[in-house]
Amino acid sequence: MNSIILVCNNCGTKNRIPADKQHLGPKCGSCKNFISLSGAAVPVELADSNFAAFISQASKPVMVDFYSPTCGPCRMLAPTIDTMAKRFLGRIIIAKLDTNSNQKTAAQFRIKGVPSLLFFNNGQVIDRLTGALSEQELAKLLEKFA
Ligand SMILES: [Zn+2]
Repeated sequence: MNSIILVCNNCGTKNRIPADKQHLGPKCGSCKNFISLSGAAVPVELADSNFAAFISQASKPVMVDFYSPTCGPCRMLAPTIDTMAKRFLGRIIIAKLDTNSNQKTAAQFRIKGVPSLLFFNNGQVIDRLTGALSEQELAKLLEKFA
């Protein structure tokens, strides 16, 4: 699981925030002030080893970008996915899965083309689409989903 390092505004302590805890309003380990994640949130990087547990335990809807590092349209979509992680922080969990390194999960969800976006709620797939889309289009979809 990936994480981000953020400096506390209050006491200057560096905090490591696991990506999967971003939406929980993390507090500084030193002074217990809330850490501002505004503009710093990143997609949660999932893998075969943690995918099922993460999806089944998620307290918010989850969108997962199934991508391949070698796919051009996936690379073009990546900055949009990053933007959505910031924009929808606390409302929708934005995650991604590298289908090259995590073929078990890709096969389980019958991913035939990348990028594929799967939308989960309460552990179930409620919508999916394949192919790149614009930032505006994706934001509109997510607003409906949030
Ligand atoms: Zn602090």
